[in-house]
Amino acid sequence: MNDHTGTPEIAGNAQLLRDLQHIRRSGHLPHALLLHGERGCGKKLIADWFVRLALCEHPENAPCGECRNCRLVRDHAHPDVLYAEHSGKRMGFSVETVRMIRAEAAILPNNGDLRIFLFTDADGMSIQAQNALLKSVEEPPPHALFLFTAETLGSLLPTLLSRMTAKAVFPVQADECIRSLTARGYAQSDAENAAARFGGNIGKCLAYLSDETTRKAAETAAALTAALAAQNEYDVLRLLTSAAADKDQLHRTLELLDAQLRDAAVLALTDSPVRLGCDAAAAQALALRLTPRRALKMHGAVSEAFADLDSNVGGVLTVTALCAALMSC
Ligand SMILES: [Zn+2]
Repeated sequence: MNDHTGTPEIAGNAQLLRDLQHIRRSGHLPHALLLHGERGCGKKLIADWFVRLALCEHPENAPCGECRNCRLVRDHAHPDVLYAEHSGKRMGFSVETVRMIRAEAAILPNNGDLRIFLFTDADGMSIQAQNALLKSVEEPPPHALFLFTAETLGSLLPTLLSRMTAKAVFPVQADECIRSLTARGYAQSDAENAAARFGGNIGKCLAYLSDETTRKAAETAAALTAALAAQNEYDVLRLLTSAAADKDQLHRTLELLDAQLRDAAVLALTDSPVRLGCDAAAAQALALRLTPRRALKMHGAVSEAFADLDSNVGGVLTVTALCAALMSC
């Protein structure tokens, strides 16, 4: 759906966009909206679109993309739209930030009848910060709208969640994803290659196409999955060691390997089409060798490697231990 603002077109999720437009036209915007879905599926793009939808001066045609409110939101310069600042190791929100937002929520809007407070990637929000926010979401000032994005619902307190209208955002069809990537200027073959790895997850495809670290990590994680399926210890160690030369590279590789293990575990149990990893065929090959217990042990081994890296154990030492742990699963 293109709103003529020059912002990237939102691919897929047509039903969700229609639902939100209907809510806007009916004049019953929720006081707290949560957009949830896997990383890279377009939650933030849709959140920005929703903010324009909510504030647009032409409700019948919202978001028009041309009115003053639409333009201010697009430029992230609207005085009634506040983005909660991330902080800390988990990139959550500090209690001070939440208190600041609560104070802001009491202030009347400048331009219209709404003030919108955005908490993106709310998965990292601590229990303390959620508790500090609870009262505002439970008894919001009439003009306040809290907008959250999160990968899963599980990280939010049930009391907070029960006050939110939750809407799922989905990856798009592969062909739609390819169209969206070529519209952004990527070559057809590159777009197809990315979509083959990440299906209709446009955010992950963009990271893969534009970021060398992600591209290398995806290729290594895919090869690692295949090596684990073949129980080739030499290759597992060689691939992990090559990734260990750079800390960011290793982190990204282990994240994608964990996603591959998750996909293989799910495929071993069901034929669910939901994929989070970067190589469906390799995940399928590993699934043939995987019991739920073995999958869980492998996931535990990767978690332990993350913990080692967080406590500054060297990369090579970490991957040597990880290789031994994975091969003994
Ligand atoms: Zn507008």
